[in-house]
Amino acid sequence: MIGSYEDYKKAVQTLKKWAYYYYVLDNPLVTDEEYDKLYKEVEKWEKTHPDKIDPTSPTRRVGDVVLDEFKKAKHITRMWSMEDVFDKNEFNEWVNRVKKLSSKKFTFYIEPKFDGASLNLVYKDGKLLRAETRGNGEIGEDVTLNAKTINSIPLEINYKEFIEIRGEVLISKKDFEKLNEERVKKEEAPFANPRNAAAGSLRQLDPKITAKRPLLFYPWGVGYPVEVLNSNEISEKKYNEDKQKFINKFNTYKNMMDFIYSLGFKEPPKRGECDSEDLDCVYKKYDEFIEIRDEIPVMLDGMVVKVNELNLLEKFGYTTKFPKWMVAFKFPAVEKETIIEDVIIQVGRTGVLTPVAILKPVEIGGVIVERATLHNFDEIKRLDIRIGDHVIVIRSGDVIPKITKVLYHKRKGTEKSIPRPTHCPVCRAEVLDEGALIKCQNLSCPARIVNTIIYFASKNCLDIDGLGESVARLLYEKNLIKDVTDLFHLEVEELEKLPGFARKKAENLINAIKKTKGSECWRFVNSLGIEHIGEVASKKICERFGVEFYKIDPAEFYKIDGFGPEMVKSIEEFVRVNKNRIETLIKYIEPKNPEVKEVKNSPFLDKRVVLTGTMSKPREEIKELLESLGAHVSNSVSKKTDFLILGKDAGSKLEKAEKLGVKILKEEEMWKMIGEENAD
Ligand SMILES: [Zn+2]
Repeated sequence: MIGSYEDYKKAVQTLKKWAYYYYVLDNPLVTDEEYDKLYKEVEKWEKTHPDKIDPTSPTRRVGDVVLDEFKKAKHITRMWSMEDVFDKNEFNEWVNRVKKLSSKKFTFYIEPKFDGASLNLVYKDGKLLRAETRGNGEIGEDVTLNAKTINSIPLEINYKEFIEIRGEVLISKKDFEKLNEERVKKEEAPFANPRNAAAGSLRQLDPKITAKRPLLFYPWGVGYPVEVLNSNEISEKKYNEDKQKFINKFNTYKNMMDFIYSLGFKEPPKRGECDSEDLDCVYKKYDEFIEIRDEIPVMLDGMVVKVNELNLLEKFGYTTKFPKWMVAFKFPAVEKETIIEDVIIQVGRTGVLTPVAILKPVEIGGVIVERATLHNFDEIKRLDIRIGDHVIVIRSGDVIPKITKVLYHKRKGTEKSIPRPTHCPVCRAEVLDEGALIKCQNLSCPARIVNTIIYFASKNCLDIDGLGESVARLLYEKNLIKDVTDLFHLEVEELEKLPGFARKKAENLINAIKKTKGSECWRFVNSLGIEHIGEVASKKICERFGVEFYKIDPAEFYKIDGFGPEMVKSIEEFVRVNKNRIETLIKYIEPKNPEVKEVKNSPFLDKRVVLTGTMSKPREEIKELLESLGAHVSNSVSKKTDFLILGKDAGSKLEKAEKLGVKILKEEEMWKMIGEENAD
């Protein structure tokens, strides 16, 4: 409880520290529950002491003001665009041009090129004064209230001089998918790509909307480093003097960015330096970036190569559009043009009809793309998509390929429009048209049943080997199963008569089904396919209530961190309708409850551990083991990390750990500490 002003100040400091670890370092110190609890206490105290509120308190990030329009904001120094190059030849040409600008030797600073919305942050006396969009480079918009809701933008920094910090506002690929799913549900048009989602979220007149979008900020540079509030008031002489002072402090771009990150900003997953004579070094970095591109949670569309020596930048100067000293070395496109050859309708296990575009196969970023999601029929109507249309398709990492644009000008008049379905394409039952969602309500619809079985057997559910799409369909069509419970009555004799089956394959399938006996509780709960209950929620349910969760009073589920009415009602309804089926499945599967391990003597109890390099066992397995021994395993090294565990070919994490003085353990040493009995 917060009693005194002193308590309040301490609580605000604690919240800030937790938020920094969570949003900037991706290394949470406490659970969301603990954070929310303290946040609410701080909020409560502030309500009763409005005159004593700390303006940098995390509760101040979201205000109540809704704007009518954005104020224009003239940038002190221009926010430049960047020249793009698309291959080695173009890059080499750029290097040759830069080399002609100076006889001095120089190096390159290399960082990722994030695909988001540029933002300029103005700090004065260590406080965030303003945030401005890029606009046309000279005049942007004042989006300060919205920027304050972005948790990875510090409201105060430990640097008292006037400074403009520039960077990119982004949304992760995962959050982008989630945001679009929500928009489709609410019958709003989905965003075409993560960049549009980030830019659109940043330009909301109501900051509460921005606050709900999980935006991230990654800095990439500095604008004007000294105080002026109006660019007309400074003479060129003063500008040059001030700038020189700042340059002398850091000398290189790399040092300058190290300094910016040290002020509490998010650091990109990879950076580097190369000599301008050693282009192989640059190409190697390029390949490395492409290799990790899909694993990085945000969209990358290239890497930025900048001249590293700050002293040379002004000397090299600018064209009318770009700085001459930097270039975006773009990755192979994630967007390509192709043609929609057909549209098919898939019926999922919940009965939702999803239109899918069949595309003329096209290679995008090394992968052949043949299908793209169309979300729903409202979206087809909104974009006026027709069969035969030329379209732009985007794909990157875990973003599902999707159509971002129809090239209407390429229409010949022979394109066919796509009618809104009135009947299920599989069982012919009349559909329920709810606008954004069209559903087949027939519980015995073959598509629903087959998809339920496929889901039941999938990797993150009961993981039944050999029970994929074609086998599930075959078993259903041959009348061997009508429901997942029938799987447990299958016999080798009836299976081996099926086309494509022999004795061995039949036995394997039966054994795989038998092997589900004793599965972990969460796999069982996840396999039930309760709406809104995925893998994470299933794990939470099992940790709290175990296999007998269906006997628990629904009100109890609200006590689980992150469970709201939508999820709880969904569980309640599912249990009401399917209680018998749940009990039958428990009888067959006998799921085992999560073990409560005695971890008192573990050397890893409450230690913050980071894994790096290739290990002798899958990383996920080692992570689980360490967690069962009380460790907190995270992805990035910080001062708070207790151990870095080293596999083969460790990279930047090792460097960082050495720099921070984090204790480094070889994998073998870790096994020794864990003890032989846990070693396999
Ligand atoms: Zn149907």
